[in-house]
Amino acid sequence: MGKNILVVADVRHQNVRQVTNEMIGAANELAQGGSVHVAVLGHEVNIPDLGAKGADDVWVVNDESLKNYTPSAYRKAVLEIYRQVNPQVILFAHSAVGKDLAPVVAMRLGLGQISDVTALDVSGDKPLFTRPIYAGKAFTKVTPKAEPYAVTIRPNNLQPYSGSAKTAQTHEVTVSFETPDLATVVREVVQKATGGVDLTEAKIIISGGRGVKSADGFAPLKELADVLGAAVGASRGACDAGYCDYALQIGQTGKVVTPDLYIACGISGAIQHLAGMSSSKVIVAINKDPEAPIFQVADYGIVGDLFEVVPLLTEEFKKVLV
Ligand code: FAD
Repeated sequence: MGKNILVVADVRHQNVRQVTNEMIGAANELAQGGSVHVAVLGHEVNIPDLGAKGADDVWVVNDESLKNYTPSAYRKAVLEIYRQVNPQVILFAHSAVGKDLAPVVAMRLGLGQISDVTALDVSGDKPLFTRPIYAGKAFTKVTPKAEPYAVTIRPNNLQPYSGSAKTAQTHEVTVSFETPDLATVVREVVQKATGGVDLTEAKIIISGGRGVKSADGFAPLKELADVLGAAVGASRGACDAGYCDYALQIGQTGKVVTPDLYIACGISGAIQHLAGMSSSKVIVAINKDPEAPIFQVADYGIVGDLFEVVPLLTEEFKKVLV
């Protein structure tokens, strides 16, 4: 029998992020002929045609209290939609918001949770979710013990819905957000001017480590990133040395990324860095030390000085791309 699956859309700067399409893809597999419901929470969010992305129903809570994320307001909105949809599975993105919101909702509803899912197999009696353990050193497969349950999905890993477009029904939901309900009220969000492509959704990342030697040392990496339409990331070594902002840090205590192509420049490949990027689809390492551990996870390794290699790559890519 088909299931009801609820996807909580991942919204940033009033736009629905790509990982939402990947969650809807997973929801269609889990639903097995049932219904895929998508909750869009926020204030004046630009909502694309989610029917074309595989949604059967779209539940919208449009309220100023949801302009910026706060766990209390978002939890209230999700619980309201949850009551109406009564899903067997609820999916969140494994993003900054989803990682915070999923356990808050799961705890309130007494649900089990499977976090940071990178693959889904629905061929057996019960779905099998793959997730990393030991800081990404190994992967395990988990089956939920009971329904309903919550899941967070790592961006850039699952396939979006590829079936024919649906005509989604939209439901406007009104939730009253009284100030006493709200443990936290966000007054203002000050954006850091890191610019460029969003790291967690980027298809290509050029990352710099302590080997870039200075803030100016990131310049050739930025040029290559511009040519490839890539985001720039960093190791903690580079952040700690003050060469770049911590917003760029990738790894166990930074962002977890899964781009199609990850180019590591002057990064040694410490386990804590690998935890954030080792499931990238293709890894290229540029390092002047042939013994650097990054070469053990790299698909392609270039032993050389990044200040010679990176500009050469930029020139070659310019010939074919610009
Ligand atoms: P280094 O290890 O110093 O490596 C620099 C590399 O650059 C070397 O391999 C060198 O051969 C190469 N190099 C130098 N000059 C050149 C050149 N001109 N051309 C080419 N190559 C060159 N680290 C993270 O990255 N992310 C995390 O989230 C993170 N979390 C941590 C959490 C904890 C609890 C701890 C203890 C550590 C964490 N770390 C993290 C730090 C991690 O252990 C490493 O110290 C860090 O990743 C090293 O950064 P790096 O590779 O840039 O620097």
